[in-house]
Amino acid sequence: MEVKFTPWRMAYIGGPKSAGCVFCAAAAATDDAAFQVVARGRHCFVILNRFPYNNGHVMVLPYEHTADLVALPTEVAQELMDMTRSAVDALGRSMHPTGYNIGMNLGEVAGAGIADHLHMHVVPRWNGDTNFMSVVGDTRLIPQSLEETWRVLREAW
Ligand SMILES: [Zn+2]
Repeated sequence: MEVKFTPWRMAYIGGPKSAGCVFCAAAAATDDAAFQVVARGRHCFVILNRFPYNNGHVMVLPYEHTADLVALPTEVAQELMDMTRSAVDALGRSMHPTGYNIGMNLGEVAGAGIADHLHMHVVPRWNGDTNFMSVVGDTRLIPQSLEETWRVLREAW
């Protein structure tokens, strides 16, 4: 097996766990621009992924720090799906993707980076976005800055 070193991922691996839950910090924050919170509902909120798989990658998550999808109160689960639909709507109107990957990774074994606070990934897709770099190099080229993405989605919401 060939091993490729990806030291830039240390910011992700080492950051959140050592500094507490970044999702809870964003939930409690008053500065939505600084924490890149796109929208807030009664039970859930939407935030940009700082390590996006693709341009416009957002996450929808409850304010409550929980990993238990089954025990999620119905009204929270409903708003989670409602805000996921709103995210698709806002992304569609502002960035015009041709498809989406939407889903949750429950548990570290399933690939969840922050397993203790469940979150729904919404990843917009464009024809041809699986480019050479991502296929061979574990590297994605994100054409838009997070600040610009945040501004565009915030206006479209
Ligand atoms: Zn949390």
